[in-house]
Amino acid sequence: MLKKEKLAIIRRWYPNAITTIDNINRLIDFAEEKLELEPTAIMLADSICSDDVNSIQYPARAQEFLGPFKMGGLDGFPFTGLTGMVAMASHIPDNGAALITYGPHIGITKTGDIGEIHRMGQSANTGCCGASRSALERLMNNQIEPGHTSEIDYQMNTIEQILYASKERILAANTPLHEATEVIYEAIDHRINELVAKTDFHCRYVILVGNILINSDSDMGSFTSIKRFDIINVESHKTENHLHDFD
Ligand SMILES: [Zn+2]
Repeated sequence: MLKKEKLAIIRRWYPNAITTIDNINRLIDFAEEKLELEPTAIMLADSICSDDVNSIQYPARAQEFLGPFKMGGLDGFPFTGLTGMVAMASHIPDNGAALITYGPHIGITKTGDIGEIHRMGQSANTGCCGASRSALERLMNNQIEPGHTSEIDYQMNTIEQILYASKERILAANTPLHEATEVIYEAIDHRINELVAKTDFHCRYVILVGNILINSDSDMGSFTSIKRFDIINVESHKTENHLHDFD
């Protein structure tokens, strides 16, 4: 399938989606042209779902950056918390930058079905994101107990509580899984802001890139729908929104 044909399928749900490979290429170009930083001066940190598909579809060129420092757990929530953010911040080159990319993921098959993908070697499709799908199913069946988290399934319970807090909004939507993914994006974005605010950085820039990561079938690859591109100048504490350069 041609790239433009793949994009046409994904853009029915996410109109500004591009391939994740093109997304990495434009991030590297932006850092070189606008910030005059080589990839080796930039610590990549990601907060994306632990799902193996995100490792399989991770763009090879991301290796030009330092890292990645892995902050995410189920559906990309930054479960490594403040300790993770502070540790990552202490590893950034002195005159360099942190590039923090984050967001939930969702599957879209080549036939345009949302919430699942075809994985290598399997006959049937499976859920993507499996965690958000399970949480949504429990939400719809009134199986989420407000405030409940357990030690054995803490991350999953946290995703459940995030959805529970927006129950009416999610269940009123035409496509609840799509809406649940937006809700999880907002929760991740909010938490990333909190963690960055509580962390001392000693580099030049902190680049915050919020996305919805869209996985597709094994022969389709992955796609990125950008939602936020902010550059914090560490010395001046000023934040510049550069989303217009990408959207
Ligand atoms: Zn997932």
